[in-house]
This record gives sequence, structure tokens and C-alpha cells, in this order.
Amino acid sequence: MKKADCRVAVIGGGLSGLVIAVGLGKKGYRNVTVLEKDNRLGGKLFTIWYRGKSYELGAIFGLPVQQHLQALLKEFNIKSDGPNLTRVYYDRSGNKIMQIPKKVLSAFLEEVERLPVTLAEYSSLEKAKIEDLEQPLMMPFSQWCDYHRFRVLKRIYQHHFTSYGLGDIEQVPALYVLRILNYDTIMSLLDLPELFTWKTGVSTLIDALSQKIKNIRLGQKVIKIAGSNSQRLTVQTEFEQLEFERVVITAPLEQFSDLYEQDEEMINFLGGIKYQDYYVYAFIVDKLPKGCGVILEHLSNQNKGHIMIWNSRWESSHQDHLLTVYAYRHPDYSRLASLKVIENDLLRLGIANPRLYQLKCWKQSPYVDSVALQRGFYQKMEAMQGKHNVFLAGEIMSTVSMENCLRYANYLLNQYF
Ligand SMILES: Cc1cc2nc3c(=O)[nH]c(=O)nc-3n(C[C@H](O)[C@H](O)[C@H](O)COP(=O)(O)OP(=O)(O)OC[C@H]3O[C@@H](n4cnc5c(N)ncnc54)[C@H](O)[C@@H]3O)c2cc1C
Repeated sequence: MKKADCRVAVIGGGLSGLVIAVGLGKKGYRNVTVLEKDNRLGGKLFTIWYRGKSYELGAIFGLPVQQHLQALLKEFNIKSDGPNLTRVYYDRSGNKIMQIPKKVLSAFLEEVERLPVTLAEYSSLEKAKIEDLEQPLMMPFSQWCDYHRFRVLKRIYQHHFTSYGLGDIEQVPALYVLRILNYDTIMSLLDLPELFTWKTGVSTLIDALSQKIKNIRLGQKVIKIAGSNSQRLTVQTEFEQLEFERVVITAPLEQFSDLYEQDEEMINFLGGIKYQDYYVYAFIVDKLPKGCGVILEHLSNQNKGHIMIWNSRWESSHQDHLLTVYAYRHPDYSRLASLKVIENDLLRLGIANPRLYQLKCWKQSPYVDSVALQRGFYQKMEAMQGKHNVFLAGEIMSTVSMENCLRYANYLLNQYF
């Protein structure tokens, strides 16, 4: 069938889905439909507006070292002209502390020197597609650090990985931590970080991409994908039944395990995908704390539910601004109890009378555990590419971050379309 006649459905209108839809257009596919369950595009890129200013409830920043993101910005002539986001470290009472205490400084320097040499042993980290995984990458990250004697770096990685809602380094395999925080990324976070943002929010990227896509359907949650004998796939939303020749799934894959009902291994693998429950609160406050702070004491597992990061995006002394704060959900707390914990933390930081403006509860940072990696999760996923004319993308395939989503989207387009 000619590309121009081939009907392709892209499920999910987040960054991965939109980049794939635009990329398909460039490759000559004229009949591409994006199906998005929400009434807005963007998924985890989610800018909100308050009194004329933009705030982020999802992704916030990019880094100069991220080549795919830079290329996208260049292609769409998007300027990274947003406010600065330099991070400062605090204890829970709001006193500034050093991220790397003086007494471990020399050990830290020794480890930083060793890091690139160690990472060079892991060539699988360099590829878009996850394959030929070296055994140690399947260990939980903290074990990987012990294995390579990275005592100080273990804490530094934890500061960045855990606070961004990406999970507990005692559980999440090294594969994910080292792909999300690759050498350049961790170094730019350690340096005076040049985190760039967008004045009109990260959703600027989504607006630019969506202009290039003709057929976007919102509020269309896909509930089932089924193959048929005629090479066609039936995609059922809550309202409609549609037919396509090819489907690309960028939404969480486990929702579509029905498609693989004959394949027990695939069903088990999909059932093993785990997420972090990560909350982003936006508060109206009478007084803003300065800039962007990280409370190091709150990054541990026993302090789940407490504020890890706060972000005063637009600095100002008056009350026209929002303060965003980030915390994992405590598994035993209701939303109300969780809010109380956050309000008490804010009080300790000197911020009284916060009024909740908006809360977003994310299923953040999908991963599979060491056992699933040992059993060949990614070999299986890659082997399923194109089976029933269905292609798999999105965060579990790419690992988290805008850069990784873009890299995997490009790989998928070049490899299969
Ligand atoms: C709080 C937070 C902060 C972050 N900060 C950063 C950052 O600063 N920098 C960075 O690079 N990355 C950051 N990230 C990660 C980054 O945002 C994501 O990795 C990336 O946006 C994922 O894009 P995606 O399209 O693959 O997935 P998603 O954005 O999750 O998109 C999937 C889409 O599928 C839709 N969907 C789900 N089920 C269905 C269905 N059944 N039918 C139809 N549609 C469906 C969803 O509604 C969603 O729109 C952050 C993420 C979060 C949550």
C-alpha cells in the first residue's frame, strides 16, 4: 500500500505522539490521526496560566546538551526565553545547605573523574533502542553504585532522580537512572545548571507541533485495539470504532494487553510496568520563597509525601503568583491528609496561608524491575514492533525526559516508516 493511502492512528497526544505524527507527515503519510483521551494535548507537558503568567504542572526545563530537543526548537524557531531555574539546597527548616558536604569533596572529585570511564563500559546506554543490556544495568541503581564504588555520586544521583519524581534508586534499575541522567545531563546539573525554560511554557512546543497535524481528535480514550484478518486494525474509543492499517501506541502500553491475549509473556511483561505517584501542587501564596529549592532531607523513602522541590517561577513579593511544589504520594495518605503534610512543610519554610489552586497527580516515570529486565523485557518489546501492524513508543520504550522521547520517536520513524 502507498504511504499516502495508509491510515495510521497515533494513540496519545503527548510529546511522543505529536512528534511521531509530524514525522509521519514528513515521510509521506497523508492519513494520520492522533487520538488523545484528554480534552487537551501535551500529556506530561502541561502549562497552566494564572493572572497572565505561565506555570508548569508537568515538564519544566531542557538542557543545552540535549541535541534532539535543541533540533526541535530550532526547526520550529522556538526561543527558550523563560525564567531561570537555578536550584538551591535546603534543610527542612529552610536553611541553605551544601549539596556536597565539604568532608566528602575529595571522594566526590575522585568519583567524578572515574564516572566517564565507567560509563564507557556500557555501550547499550548510547542507543535509542534498548538492546544488548549489560548485566550490571539490570541491578537497582544503588547496587550499581556500590558495585562501582560510587558512594558520593549515589547521593548526588538520588538528589536529582528522586526529586524529579523518577523513583527510588534502591528499586529502579540502573538502566533507567543512567539513561535519564546520562553523563552530560548529570554534569550539567552539577555545574551551574543551565536549565532553560519557556516564557509561554513548555506547551509552546505542543502548540507548534499540533499546527502541523491535520487530524487530531480530543476526548477520545482508546479502549481497545483489535486486529482483523483483512490487515486492518479496529481502534475503539469510548465513542467510535475506527479502522486503520497501522497503529502507533505512545500512551501507557499496559492498557492494550488485550491485543496480545495469545501471548502470555507479553501480558506478564505489560502487567509488570510500574509507575511513581508524583503530585504537583500549585498554590496561591501571600509570600513567595526565592527561586527553586530542593529539600534534601525529604528525598528519602521514609519522607515520602513531603515537599521535595519548590519552584517560584516568577520572582515577586506580591501575591499575584503561584508557587508550585512537588512530592510523591504517601501510599497510606488520602489526598486531604497529603495536602495537610504539604501545608505544614510550607509553614516550616515560612509560607503561611497557602490556597490550593490546582493539583496534578501524575503516573510518572514508568519502569520494569530488575527481574523483568533479566527476563528480556526490552528484547520482547522490540520483537513486537510491527506485530499486527502495531508499533510501540512512549516513555516505557524511550525512558523518561523530552530528549529521550524525541530520540526514540526519531528512531522508530527511521526504522519502521
Ligand atoms: C511533573 C513532571 C515533571 C517533568 N519534568 C521534566 C523536565 O523538566 N524535563 C524533561 O525533559 N522531562 C520532564 N518530565 C518528563 C517528560 O514530561 C515526559 O517524559 C514526556 O513528556 C513524555 O511524553 P509522552 O508523549 O511519551 O508521554 P505522555 O506525556 O504521558 O503522553 C501520553 C498521552 O497519552 C494519552 N493517553 C493515555 N491513555 C490513552 C488512551 N487510552 N487513549 C488515548 N490517549 C491516551 C495521555 O492523556 C497523554 O496525553 C517531567 C514529567 C513530569 C510528570
